[in-house]
Amino acid sequence: MGDKIVSSDGRVYIVGAGPGDPELLTLRAARLLGEAGAVVYDRLVGAEILELCPPGCLRIFAGKSPGNHTMRQGEINSLLIDLAQEGLSVVRLKGGDPFIFGRGGEEAQALSQAGVPFEIVPGVTSATAAPAYAGVPVTHRGLSSSVTFVTAHEDPAKPETSVDYAHLAAGGGTLVFVMGARSIGRISRELLRYGMTDETPVAIVENATTGRQRALRCTLAEAPSFAEREEVAPPAVVVVGAVAALADELAWFRPEESPASPWSRLQTQTLLESI
Ligand code: SAH
Repeated sequence: MGDKIVSSDGRVYIVGAGPGDPELLTLRAARLLGEAGAVVYDRLVGAEILELCPPGCLRIFAGKSPGNHTMRQGEINSLLIDLAQEGLSVVRLKGGDPFIFGRGGEEAQALSQAGVPFEIVPGVTSATAAPAYAGVPVTHRGLSSSVTFVTAHEDPAKPETSVDYAHLAAGGGTLVFVMGARSIGRISRELLRYGMTDETPVAIVENATTGRQRALRCTLAEAPSFAEREEVAPPAVVVVGAVAALADELAWFRPEESPASPWSRLQTQTLLESI
């Protein structure tokens, strides 16, 4: 691992923060946050979750929003390495699961190359949690026996798509698109072009698991105009496939009953003492 001198305690935990509701954080994530010397967090991490950091913990925002990169990936990697080499216990906190479209793998590679010890703490990914909170099981006996997670985010300047829509349309399983709020037109057009039927059910889930969740249902053919009319905005997950129709029967989450500050359900200190 090279000839770098590495502090004995400096370690980076690449941690999934879950999809939004702080109660969907893992106990391991909560404990590591409670012990962190520094936390480097992303935009989709709920503010309440940061309340778990001890006083004196460095809190560094490394969030990116589409088209507005606060810190470049290389800068984030260097920051994580520097903080760990100062001997801090560093929590790199990412929305959802760090290894699902979270660039957690790239950060782990940078740490590995620098000889910095690291651990991965999986999180509840929005790719399954958002459908679940809309009443959509991503697999269901008799309806879908496979699920594919797809990133719909692509460089708008590129005329061609790098996603293999022909393959996706032919697969027959559930498709879950993340970073798709602004690409519903393309998703619909490409899947229809490669043979999916107009009537294929679609569910769109915005701000899932939070008090601002919006779950919408439409068909693949009507999805682009529907999304425009409803002003669908990120963060949103788009589910395409027969299972999406189960939302009509199984939608259970009432965002209006969700408290504005979820920690009011749970005293932070009590939580940390209990783990
Ligand atoms: N690693 C994350 C995904 C990061 S990519 C995970 O596992 O969830 C960011 C995308 O995740 C967003 O564009 C959106 O598609 C999705 N996303 C994250 N949080 C969400 C939420 N609360 N509701 C709906 N989609 C969400």
